[in-house]
Amino acid sequence: MRLVFEQIRSGGDRNFGYLLGDREAGAGVLIDPSYSPETFAERAKAQSLTITHVINTHSHPDHTNGNERALSLTGAVLAAHPMLRPSAPLDDGATLNVGALRLTAHHVPGHCADHLVLYESVHRLLITGDLLFVGKVGGTQNDADARTEWRSLQRLLTLVPGDATVWPGHDYGVRPSSTIALERETNPFLLCPDEAAFLRLKAEWPQVKQRLGLK
Ligand SMILES: [Zn+2]
Repeated sequence: MRLVFEQIRSGGDRNFGYLLGDREAGAGVLIDPSYSPETFAERAKAQSLTITHVINTHSHPDHTNGNERALSLTGAVLAAHPMLRPSAPLDDGATLNVGALRLTAHHVPGHCADHLVLYESVHRLLITGDLLFVGKVGGTQNDADARTEWRSLQRLLTLVPGDATVWPGHDYGVRPSSTIALERETNPFLLCPDEAAFLRLKAEWPQVKQRLGLK
C-alpha cells in the first residue's frame, strides 16, 4: 500500500498529531508534531519516510511547541498559513505534494485567524486541527470569531464529500476520528440550522456539556 497515515497521541490536552506519507516515494510530512517531536521523527524513520515539511494547522502553542525540534530532527521546512511567516506558506487553496499524494490547504479562520485544514483527496483524509472535533468544534473568544468559525465550517462542508474522514487536533470525542457525514448527523454544532443557533449553542455549551455528560 502506498499511503502511510498515522494518528499520533503527542501529549498535552489529548493532542493528536499526524504522520502522512507516500511509501513508494519515501516522502512524508508531520502535522502538528507537538510535545513529543522525537516520537514523530521515530515513526517517520520506522516507515522509511524522509520528512519534507512540518505543517501546522494553526499557531496555538499546543500545536507548534515541537516545531523547532521536529525541524532539526528531520531537516524539513515549516509549512503553515502565511500569517506565521513559514518557509513554505500555504494560503487558501494551496497544494503541497507528498510523493504522489496531494494535500490541499483550506483557510478556515474562527478558532484562530491563521487556521488551516488539510485535505488529501485520493484517500479523502481531512485533518481538521481545532476547527472540527468529533462531536464539537473549536473554542472561540467572542461572537465575531464564532460567526467567522460558522462561516468556515459551512464553507468546508461544501468543499469536502460526506465520506471524507475527520482527523482532529484533540481526542475530545467518543472516538478518535469520524466522517463528515457522521458529524453532520450527530455533531450538535453542525446540526444548528443557522448562525444564530450556532452562537446560542456556543453560549450554552458549558450547561449542554454537563447535561450530556461530556468531558
Ligand atoms: Zn487551538
